[in-house]
Amino acid sequence: MIQVTGLEKSYHQTSVLADIHFAVNKGEFFGIIGPNGSGKSTLLKMISGVISYDAGEIVINEKPLRKYTRKELAKLLAVLEQEGLPPVGFRVREVLEMGRFPFQNWLGEEAEDASSLINDIIEMLGLQQLEDRGLDELSGGEKQRVALGKALVQKPKLLLLDEPTTYLDIGYQIQLMDIVKSWQKTNGVTVVAVLHDLNLASLYCDRILMLHKGKQVQVGGPREIMQSSLIEDVYGTRPIVMEHPVHQLPQIFLKSESWR
Ligand code: ADP
Ligand code: MG
Repeated sequence: MIQVTGLEKSYHQTSVLADIHFAVNKGEFFGIIGPNGSGKSTLLKMISGVISYDAGEIVINEKPLRKYTRKELAKLLAVLEQEGLPPVGFRVREVLEMGRFPFQNWLGEEAEDASSLINDIIEMLGLQQLEDRGLDELSGGEKQRVALGKALVQKPKLLLLDEPTTYLDIGYQIQLMDIVKSWQKTNGVTVVAVLHDLNLASLYCDRILMLHKGKQVQVGGPREIMQSSLIEDVYGTRPIVMEHPVHQLPQIFLKSESWR
């Protein structure tokens, strides 16, 4: 569904991404990992068309990204960003309704009534009790579910997530990732997710792209990426990699240098 070739980006003559080349299959759950500042958000913003690239090409569904109009992109993809919610002053249901803007004419009318879709998503995200709450009256976990809801009501073919689980406790992390995964499976959506937690990336991603200092280190399945020497090269700390006792996927344990 996505082909990225020879992608490059610089800010003020400093290269932040170079020689990026990978493809994402339709219906795939594709992860992007790498240390802070390695270029993950920049790459995701280029895929969503928010920022331009200096060289190379991103092709989505056989069409170069720069040939898409704003409206075409809004119908194709949705983004969940770390700070993606509108400023305070809006209620939960209003925020989800905003997700339908790309499908409305200038009178704010839609060909199909979206209210039942919005109801379904509110229910799936467990936001029924919060529908009429203001955004400033929500916890971090609740806000993140609203942000996901705003992305899902667009019924995107491509869902882009930038560190969706940051600031969430483990219960909400699993809940949010499970919702995304089951949505991806039932709707055949392609997911590209920047994840900072390597263990979550291993559990949920079909394949993972590992970035380091703006360069592509490796693309592969969890077993190819979750290797202690590779992780040491990129993150500067050597973890212990072990098989998850239930899910048969690699997980890491951090090893302290100063223990006892
Ligand atoms: P990550 O998401 O992996 O933490 P980013 O993509 O946010 O990394 O940033 C990659 C690099 O690009 C960093 O060195 C960052 O300082 C730089 N950068 C990001 N956005 C800008 C910008 N708008 N102007 C200048 N430098 C930027
Ligand atoms: Mg980032």
